[in-house]
Amino acid sequence: MRLLADLHTHTVASGHAYSTVTELAWAAADKGLELIAVTDHGPTVPQGAHPWHFWNFKVVPSVLNGVRILKGCEANVQADTDNGIDLADELLELLDFVAVGFHPLTGFDDRDSARNTEALLRVIENPLVDQITHPGNGHDFPIDVDAVVAAAVRNRVILELNNHSFEPSSSRALSNDFERGFAAAARDAGALIAIGSDAHYALHVGRFDMAAAVAAELGIAEDRLLNRDANSVLDFLLSKRERPRLDVGGVWTWPTGRSVNAEGGA
Ligand SMILES: [Zn+2]
Ligand SMILES: [Zn+2]
Repeated sequence: MRLLADLHTHTVASGHAYSTVTELAWAAADKGLELIAVTDHGPTVPQGAHPWHFWNFKVVPSVLNGVRILKGCEANVQADTDNGIDLADELLELLDFVAVGFHPLTGFDDRDSARNTEALLRVIENPLVDQITHPGNGHDFPIDVDAVVAAAVRNRVILELNNHSFEPSSSRALSNDFERGFAAAARDAGALIAIGSDAHYALHVGRFDMAAAVAAELGIAEDRLLNRDANSVLDFLLSKRERPRLDVGGVWTWPTGRSVNAEGGA
């Protein structure tokens, strides 16, 4: 399976991640990726980025070292904001890519499936939302799988198969059976699916091996995955709505000799 786009990466702006946008772009270029979405955490998760972080994303190049950089977010499902998300619609509209998910300590830790489902359906029905991150985390955030998958299909929202969730050290490791079941339901319903690395360090950008193995095991072929290449991602995003800042920031190449290879050497 050769996947050339990573729709889930974090920078130092997420507090508990350890690379910059530039380092993510170096690593992505060295691994032959065509596109990454930079998706730092929304403000309500501990250490989450302030809304200004997302607003000022326009200063970052749109293409860096040949890699398309989508300026995105991994916002949080919220119970008490106007749009049910911890970033306002006016801000989401400016982003190239909008991902939303459940995270600990953001108001949904009571494992209430009915409440979680209602909140997540509201998010999926928001036309500004492109992807739900790790929706298969049923151990921590149980949901009505069939209702969520059906809503995602209706609203053309991507359901992520998260590579990091399958690492034994992941905080979501207890959900691996749920993740498999969720992916199978998404497959059967014909939902849009993407594998994301959820990299919190540059060398993990484009790591899809564990989730790709699960996809293969479930008979989800490469051509079913939206992140197979940059064109698939960009065509999809532009078919949903305009992305006013997609090319703001310009095309840049970092001076030579500053590249980091995929094995970690300089
Ligand atoms: Zn997440
Ligand atoms: Zn993440």
